[in-house]
Amino acid sequence: MIEFGFALKQTRQENMDKVSLDKYNRLLDLEPSFKRCFQCGNCSATCSARQFTDFSIRRVHTSFRRGEYDGLADELRKCMLCGKCTLVCPRGVNLRSLIISMRQILDEPEKTGRR
Ligand code: SF4
Ligand code: SF4
Repeated sequence: MIEFGFALKQTRQENMDKVSLDKYNRLLDLEPSFKRCFQCGNCSATCSARQFTDFSIRRVHTSFRRGEYDGLADELRKCMLCGKCTLVCPRGVNLRSLIISMRQILDEPEKTGRR
């Protein structure tokens, strides 16, 4: 096999029929402005915590949107709630409130066996 010095990334596919989006829907109830997010990444690019850690608020809220909740509570502890991401969001997503709501939802006890 020829070595090109790079490899294609594995595709990440989610079978949405098998994923419970209960937590995501609850998040939209608590912070409806999240519906306007179009994944530009401005929030991550200006994040204060990002300067010192590998924290990516965009990665966190994208995972939440996809129903992938493992490890998110720990990730969210890296955020210092400075609010800079809220100021730069071109879609007016209230990220600071979104982060607090995600923390709240992830702290709630599981109601079912599904994730
Ligand atoms: S800056 Fe706003 S629109 Fe862009 S990814 Fe972040 S939340 Fe979404
Ligand atoms: S509130 Fe959190 S996610 Fe937003 S810029 Fe500050 S440290 Fe980053």
